[in-house]
Amino acid sequence: MPLYKTPAIILHALPYGEADQIVTLYTLDFGKIKGIAKGAKRSRKRFGNRLEIGSYVRVTYFEKERPGLVRLSNCDLIRPFAGLREDIHKLAWASYFIELVDGMTAEKIENKTLFRLLAAFLSLVDRGILKDEIQRVFEVRLFSCLGYGPQLEHCIRCQRKPAGEKFFFSARGGGILCASCAAHLPGTIPVSLGTIKTLLLAQTLTLDKVGRISFSPQSLKESQAVLSAFLREYLGKELKSKKFMEQINHKAE
Ligand SMILES: [Zn+2]
Repeated sequence: MPLYKTPAIILHALPYGEADQIVTLYTLDFGKIKGIAKGAKRSRKRFGNRLEIGSYVRVTYFEKERPGLVRLSNCDLIRPFAGLREDIHKLAWASYFIELVDGMTAEKIENKTLFRLLAAFLSLVDRGILKDEIQRVFEVRLFSCLGYGPQLEHCIRCQRKPAGEKFFFSARGGGILCASCAAHLPGTIPVSLGTIKTLLLAQTLTLDKVGRISFSPQSLKESQAVLSAFLREYLGKELKSKKFMEQINHKAE
């Protein structure tokens, strides 16, 4: 029985029966997997308190249980990201990134870029870098990692490059449209050249620099409208963590 060992981020861990836990992980080498940690609540040595949302671990497992459920044999901590669970705002932000990754991926499809993206953004949240730009950058890069990146270089119909005039974004079309191609099309969102450039930068900036990115107020507003429409198009639902985040932000105001 081959034993697999890979870095992983815990997406969910739910109690199962008296002593076990069912865990969903996003792994570096094998993409998303679901497993059972037998005796997780008793064995401090094998699992301790490491099966917590957002923990960055090295997991060892083998394929044994029913299809789709691997057997976790132990778990070592790489980085705890403990801050994520100590502050309700950080937890809400981390949950949002995690729910997006969970919602947009199928099991057992390797995507190392996506793994590194999630790890980098959980690290930003752990360090308390909570600004709206971070969410927008994560969203647009998540799409790119999965091969659904929006077309922002030119009009999706006539290929015209955005210049001075107003452009529009079509979530259904997956990119931007010039004013004449967008005319009479329902559901398009106006988007300025500044926002298009900002989103293009957000897609290509190296991960160590994303924490310092800053959007103009107009680009923040427009990119939020564009990316929420795009997310709704792909997910077909609102995320629970998004609602949670809005509720706690509302209370803080
Ligand atoms: Zn056009």
